[in-house]
Amino acid sequence: MRSGLVALAGRPNVGKSTIVNAICAEKVAIVSDKPQTTRRRISGVWSNGDCQLVLIDLPGFQRPRDTMTERMQKTVDKSFEGIDGVLFVISADEYIGSGDEFIARRVFAGDVPIVIAVNKVDRVKPTKIAEQISRISLMGNFYSIHPISAKTGDGIGMLRNDLLDLLPAGPALFPEGIVTDQTLEERVAELVREQALRFTHDELPHAVGVQLIGLSESCAEVWILVEKESQKQILIGTGGSMVKKIGSGARSEIEKMLGHSIFLDLRIKVRKDWRQRPADLSRLGI
Ligand code: GDP
Ligand code: MG
Repeated sequence: MRSGLVALAGRPNVGKSTIVNAICAEKVAIVSDKPQTTRRRISGVWSNGDCQLVLIDLPGFQRPRDTMTERMQKTVDKSFEGIDGVLFVISADEYIGSGDEFIARRVFAGDVPIVIAVNKVDRVKPTKIAEQISRISLMGNFYSIHPISAKTGDGIGMLRNDLLDLLPAGPALFPEGIVTDQTLEERVAELVREQALRFTHDELPHAVGVQLIGLSESCAEVWILVEKESQKQILIGTGGSMVKKIGSGARSEIEKMLGHSIFLDLRIKVRKDWRQRPADLSRLGI
């Protein structure tokens, strides 16, 4: 048996969480086009009897701006201890700039093998893919490089096989059948947050926190926390239209995960400055 940990690195929005879901063939991490979607370290597990690959999905590297992002960056730094490899992700359709270089320096300075994924190839022409590959390959030594699309699944099987090659001999790290280190409660809260992010813009996604109040076989009670009354009004929407949209989107994702129907009791609450409060952050797992 072989097993091990591979951490994902890359700028926000390059598709790290989507890749984890694609490799694990299950939605373990929520995805959105808003920055800071991934706030805490999440593991996705893929096993085939002989090998167990644990992917560590992380908040994007960033310069801390408040207590929340400071704690997020600490999580990223700590997660690079004791890993067996890094999956460094860049986007095929964006210029490789200082943000990628900042992360590349930290990744290539480590002493574990690096696999590079050039993601979102579905969005570009082959010549652009070749250009990105030649640029990124100048940044340091790597084990292999894969053009992929986490969205269409293109190249995911070969990428997974390469990551399995990096794993040392060792026992399974998670029991059979387990796909993530998150509890069911945490996954439910995350699926609600995903829908809240989907329908909000500008500063609002940053101000949204989700707290699961109760979960039973038939019902989930969930609070969406925001920092101001004005944000609460936006999330409620005219005649409750926004909270209805978020609720029905979240319910369908939760039902997909659970495999049965559930009643979702969703409330919007103002909790002033929750992003600055260590107790609130800990309660939300950040
Ligand atoms: P992360 O911040 O690196 O974890 O990025 P996410 O996984 O949250 O993805 C950011 C955005 O890119 C989302 O809107 C995804 O749907 C989108 N995305 C991810 N992978 C692909 C891909 O292969 N092709 C396309 N077209 N979009 C993708
Ligand atoms: Mg993410």
